[in-house]
Amino acid sequence: SGVEELLLSCIRDVPDHPEPGVVFKDITPLLADPAAFAALTDALAGISVRTGATKIVGLEARGFILGAPVAVRAGLGFIPVRKAGKLPGATLSQAYDLEYGSAEIEVHAEDLNAGDRVLVVDDVLATGGTAEASLRLIRRAGAEVAGVAVLMELGFLGGRARLEPSLDGAPLEAL
Ligand code: IMP
Repeated sequence: SGVEELLLSCIRDVPDHPEPGVVFKDITPLLADPAAFAALTDALAGISVRTGATKIVGLEARGFILGAPVAVRAGLGFIPVRKAGKLPGATLSQAYDLEYGSAEIEVHAEDLNAGDRVLVVDDVLATGGTAEASLRLIRRAGAEVAGVAVLMELGFLGGRARLEPSLDGAPLEAL
């Protein structure tokens, strides 16, 4: 569609970042283009409506940039899922494996509750590890998963297959 082409045209491939052999998908040209940023926000907000979401979770850091305007556009609250040690209040934590080592993400426990339907927003789904951990956090908080919405899915990394069991039937939408 026209929107997909517009979005794709605003993503920059950066070879050998953050390490040799990796082609990094850089969304900063898209953020700097008001028409593209608005089209992306509208498309993600549309997914939140279609999935019946009642809250938007954004994954640090680019999921904050994309998720916050989506929440405002959709009239929903925004909940940050942060890297461990950043949130000041009582948190739930979830560790997950990386290619080398592990990472941990956190959410304020009081921000997610039974009865909430949560749409997770991020820029890129790569291996799916971060999104998978965020779905665990949401369910551990007693909330429901409405879905996962990303700008881009790097299909060759197999994130969709990794995420599938945790989605439990909820949609993964990649624009
Ligand atoms: P995953 O956990 O392997 O799916 O990695 C996803 C996380 O890493 C997301 O929060 C992305 O923002 C980030 N990420 C991985 N690859 C890229 C990329 O090529 N461009 C931008 N972000 C990326």
